[in-house]
Amino acid sequence: MDTTRSAALFDRARAVIPGGVNSPVRAFSSVGGTPRFIARGEGGELIDVDGNRYIDLVNSWGPLVLGHARREVRDAAVAALERGSSFGAPTSGEVELAEAIVDAVPSIEKVRLVNSGTEAGMSAVRLARGATGRAKLLKFVGHYHGHSDALLVAAGSGVATLGIPGSPGVTAGAVADTILVPWNDRAAVSAVVDEHGDDLAAILCEPVPANMNLVPPEEGFLAFLREQADRSGALLVFDEVISGFRLARGGAQELHGVTPDVTVLGKIVGGGFPLAAFGGPAALMDHLAPDGPVYQAGTLSGNPVAVAAGAAQLALLTDDVYDHLEVATRAVADGFAQALASAGLRAQVVRHRTLAGVVFADRAPTRYEDVAAADHDAYATFFHAMLEAGVYLAPSGYEVVFTSLALDEGAVATVVEAAGRAAAAVAAR
Ligand SMILES: *Cc1c(COP(=O)(O)O)cnc(C)c1O
Repeated sequence: MDTTRSAALFDRARAVIPGGVNSPVRAFSSVGGTPRFIARGEGGELIDVDGNRYIDLVNSWGPLVLGHARREVRDAAVAALERGSSFGAPTSGEVELAEAIVDAVPSIEKVRLVNSGTEAGMSAVRLARGATGRAKLLKFVGHYHGHSDALLVAAGSGVATLGIPGSPGVTAGAVADTILVPWNDRAAVSAVVDEHGDDLAAILCEPVPANMNLVPPEEGFLAFLREQADRSGALLVFDEVISGFRLARGGAQELHGVTPDVTVLGKIVGGGFPLAAFGGPAALMDHLAPDGPVYQAGTLSGNPVAVAAGAAQLALLTDDVYDHLEVATRAVADGFAQALASAGLRAQVVRHRTLAGVVFADRAPTRYEDVAAADHDAYATFFHAMLEAGVYLAPSGYEVVFTSLALDEGAVATVVEAAGRAAAAVAAR
């Protein structure tokens, strides 16, 4: 596979952009090799600057649930752009997107639009603290809620990929009120609520964690978190940046029937543009300025091009889409499992409805340490063999597989066949 042009661009990029990338995991640091510079996307495929085609199992890390350059989404964005890119004043598109979110997500009565998942998570924390008058946060080890200071501690994927626990530049003070607990550990949650319950502003989680590979909640764990939040008076915050509109239209809260106080959305909701959101019951959201005292703002928030793309994408998310995603995800996961087993590898393929992950370990992970202890060199070999075979997986063993509506049966068959060869390559190491 010729990667001359990607390699040349990566050299140029490294001279002017730290690490050559604008988000660290794109640099392939944990798997090695040359990151592919992408020229365009077509449906279920990526085409790089050297003309190589890949079946895309990343889909921009989740947002492109319909695949690349989906006509209705593109047309909506282009039409909005032709009317002007930004006004700094309210538009009808924002109302339409907000109505679509309120309609889809069970716990949301009012929603505020922002520009990234990081911003949405950070704002949700401020709202929780402002509304409760409390300071402390309970956060789970390995869950990622963006790179804001208070939440960048034991934060999974991007950070874990680089092998640094939090980050220099985050002060001890910024994380002093963040209490870390292992995922799926009821006793640990209970102990924190016993000790700090009166000071706890929020219990924060990815309801189906997908930034420490995929580690679904154990049976009843989300309902347990709801009870513990109620016991302490803390708000339950679900970060559904990945799970929202992916596990189901209404996200993990719909699938699992557990209602959070605050929901954080991103990725799919923006239709491939920089747009994210946080929302909850009206009485809670009314704590935000201008109705309330909790300040939050943004020059480009609710950007007309982004809201048009987001609304166009959400309008296409029918039950059929979720059926397709589940069938495709199951076919890929089963194909991976069979390929890895046939090669005699000790590997787990975890699947939770429309999300899946591959972990080279003896047992399915239940918490972050299980994923950290997995064989990440094996993943790197698997990743590169898949890439050579024209399948683009996430370049890190802490990430998951994101399928799209554009992943058709033929593509799934190609992926599964490639997995057979990639598993053999891992076994032959
Ligand atoms: C991607 C992600 C974020 C951060 O979103 P950005 O738009 O990258 O800032 C937050 N939470 C979760 C669960 C995510 O997967």
